[in-house]
Amino acid sequence: MGHSYKSELVGVFGHPVAENPTIVMLEAAFKELNIHWRYLTIEVLPQDLKEAISGMRAMQMKGINLTIPHKIEVIQYLDSIAEDASLIGAVNTVRKDKDRLIGENTDGKGFLESLKNDAKVNPKGRNFLILGAGGAARAISVELALAGAKQISIANRTASKGQALVKHLNDHTGTHSEFISWDGSISIPDTTDILVNATSIGLFPDVDEKPELNYDSIRKNMVVCDVIPNPPLTAFLYEASKRGAKTLDGLGMLVYQGAIGFKMWTGLEAPLPIMKDALSKEFGGESS
Ligand code: NDP
Repeated sequence: MGHSYKSELVGVFGHPVAENPTIVMLEAAFKELNIHWRYLTIEVLPQDLKEAISGMRAMQMKGINLTIPHKIEVIQYLDSIAEDASLIGAVNTVRKDKDRLIGENTDGKGFLESLKNDAKVNPKGRNFLILGAGGAARAISVELALAGAKQISIANRTASKGQALVKHLNDHTGTHSEFISWDGSISIPDTTDILVNATSIGLFPDVDEKPELNYDSIRKNMVVCDVIPNPPLTAFLYEASKRGAKTLDGLGMLVYQGAIGFKMWTGLEAPLPIMKDALSKEFGGESS
């Protein structure tokens, strides 16, 4: 008597979506906390996004993650957008507040939490060099600016995209930003405190690839971070650690952004070590 067979539903809409690993860490977290929640990995075609959002409202889903290609398009179907997500211009997490759907972005927040908790770095007053100007770079740079970074330099293969991000940061945040042209190998300026690879270079299966840099310009007092979660130890991080720099992998960012979403949806603290362990095993690494 009194048993409930109903699950609370969350998940991800994407296309393609089959390789999204978020289910692994979220289901591990639900199991650990013994709560009746389910994370569904759902294929949604671009032309069906509006109906999919109506469907999640109808089914009273507690929230949804958005991945390729829905992060920008989804904004028009939501009731409001958090300030940072609005500045980033993309939503990767929707949470339900009574009957309203609120758009959030946890990518940059996940990076920030990992930087603070795993690398013990406070971004306030520090100088960053970010490689890349795509979705991850945009989310990370906006959160770093909101957290009080002193300077954010952006290097990107396609100059126009890098320059647009620099202009956006200078126009909308108090942080000074500048563009570094990236054709051929670049050297890391001495003034850099934290170097971040926010490109997709090195992602499985291209595990031998790394950004074209003068790696000898990495100094041991720098903190070097990668957004690539799989494999956690990229060729880029390996080169940086050989030069004595402190390194931070992208697995931490992925786990923290999932943990932030978990708390937004359930109101509960996420079991971080369980989630990290589940993902590490999934990526074929050692469990911690
Ligand atoms: P985008 O496609 O939006 O951006 C990709 C970026 O990488 C662009 O700046 C692109 O430059 C650059 N790039 C790609 N290939 C090359 C190359 N061969 N040489 C130089 N630059 C290159 O992707 P996202 O920003 O959404 O994702 C980037 C990475 O971040 C992905 O690998 C993803 O897995 C990871 N990520 C990790 C998260 C985590 O939680 N750890 C969260 C979100 C993303 P250009 O503009 O010239 O094309």
